[in-house]
Amino acid sequence: MSTNPQPPEMLLHHHLKALRLPVFLAEYRKTATQCAQDKADYATFLLRLAELELLERERKGTERRIRAARFPAPKSMDDFDFGAAPSLNKKQVLELARCEWIDRREAIVLLGNPGTGKTHLAIALGLAACQRGYSVRFFTAAELVNALVEARNEKALLRLQAQLSKVPFLVIDELGYVPFSKTGAELLFEIFSQRYEQGSVLVTSNLPFAEWTGVLGSERLTAALLDRLTHHVHILPIEGESYRLAQSRRRKQQQNKPTTERDNREDPS
Ligand code: ADP
Ligand code: MG
Repeated sequence: MSTNPQPPEMLLHHHLKALRLPVFLAEYRKTATQCAQDKADYATFLLRLAELELLERERKGTERRIRAARFPAPKSMDDFDFGAAPSLNKKQVLELARCEWIDRREAIVLLGNPGTGKTHLAIALGLAACQRGYSVRFFTAAELVNALVEARNEKALLRLQAQLSKVPFLVIDELGYVPFSKTGAELLFEIFSQRYEQGSVLVTSNLPFAEWTGVLGSERLTAALLDRLTHHVHILPIEGESYRLAQSRRRKQQQNKPTTERDNREDPS
């Protein structure tokens, strides 16, 4: 540190930067003026600054976790229409968004036809977890298997497995569309095995459990995988038709309606 006498504010700026307190630095003057007006004491002044710094840190942490999760699209619980998915128990889903199931290292399986909102809900639950401070990583099953096979070929499998085991919440989307090679299925099984009671996993599939053998190849491996996955699991079946299909049908019906009726509908006032 310099021995030259320096105005206290210059030193303060230096120290706040060195301590990585950017919000203290940006806000201390304004907060001081505010506190003087409010006749607040020194502790209150410090408290207000600490609160602002903490809020900003939490916001940045959430942003960082959302980027690291690599969600394929921005979807949230707020824009999920539960009315279009009557087989879902809304209360149960909102309870799961509180993330206590992650602390208990449980699993979620979302089952349903294409377009019924499985990926949407998986992202929404992932987002809720990021906001509550949990790290999340989103993969499609095919992406995950490819990454595992590639890592194995490059002798980097242990590193990838160790990385994944540090993530408390792993999303494996779209199990069922692409059948895996024998090696791919075995590597995926290892992931489930490692996560069992060690971390949480959310799997989505268009196939009922009875048909998972068709994707994983071996009956024995499928049984062992399901045994681990379903020990502490929340199974959420989403019944019904594709949301997109239903929406476009509604749009077409609307277009085909006589003009007066359509106008009445669009302007309920
Ligand atoms: P899935 O993964 O089951 O094939 P998606 O989650 O990709 O289906 O849903 C297809 C599209 O329809 C997405 O744009 C999604 O946001 C939307 N969607 C599906 N279900 C709902 C719903 N209940 N409320 C709002 N949007 C929905
Ligand atoms: Mg999907």
